[in-house]
Amino acid sequence: MTNVSIALRERLEARVPFSTLELVHEATSVDGTVKALFHTAGGHPVEAVLMLFRDGRRSVCLSSQSGCPLTCTFCATGQMQFRRNLGEWEILDQALHFRRRGPISHVVFMGMGEPMLNFDAVVAAARRLPDLGVTNRRTTVSTVGWLPGLRRFVDEVEEPIRLALSLHAPTDALRSQIMPVNDRFPLDDVLAECLRYHELRRRRVFVEYVMLQGVNDSLDHARSLAELLDPTIFKVNMIPYNPTGMFEGSSRETMAAFKDFLHDAGFSPTLRLTRGRDIAAACGQLAATA
Ligand code: SF4
Repeated sequence: MTNVSIALRERLEARVPFSTLELVHEATSVDGTVKALFHTAGGHPVEAVLMLFRDGRRSVCLSSQSGCPLTCTFCATGQMQFRRNLGEWEILDQALHFRRRGPISHVVFMGMGEPMLNFDAVVAAARRLPDLGVTNRRTTVSTVGWLPGLRRFVDEVEEPIRLALSLHAPTDALRSQIMPVNDRFPLDDVLAECLRYHELRRRRVFVEYVMLQGVNDSLDHARSLAELLDPTIFKVNMIPYNPTGMFEGSSRETMAAFKDFLHDAGFSPTLRLTRGRDIAAACGQLAATA
């Protein structure tokens, strides 16, 4: 805007910041994935990731909190200090950062934090994404099963925003071992809420299942999973584990056998492509370490 004086432009910049976030660091993976580390005005770290796929999808993974108070054992974010919930614009500014460089087609709320712990800001941001070119149907909110927020999501979000459940274990005993949140909100209650979502909204629920070697990846686990879920309601997305120092990832053979079992049981499981592993931008690796 060169028809405004330099002095006024400087005053505007100081008083009306361009973004609520300051970009601190950015890294690009060999596969083209870009991870951006921002700071909030108070210096709290926030990360977002842009993933490029061969089919043309340009998907952005957004954070809903700086850090995370839940301590899932396989997740780097859960090991860092929880700072606070992000505001609606702190969430949107992550997406806008990438949108300024090109179109984005999909958004997933799977970065730092549990989105259902920050329900109002997450849903408000998700509802504005069509203004950035991302439709509701291409927006996915993920949860580990934080029931108060999940109930509100089912009751209040009438737009066709997708729901993903980070399940990761087919029994309460195992799930509590790797995800302490399960002690508070056990599987039956969380799955009942997912079924209510399906009944009310007529949309399938995506199930995220990270493959941890020797922990949740046996054929017995696959059998338990197949018994637990209705394949007409739940779509299973297997996620190769990205090392964060605590577990080993399952081998290709183990993942293939697990997938085949689910397939034979009537599911159409997918094995997610891993993006940005070399820059610690892949699932479960976000820890604001730049
Ligand atoms: S998996 Fe999600 S809910 Fe669990 S610690 Fe990581 S960010 Fe938090």
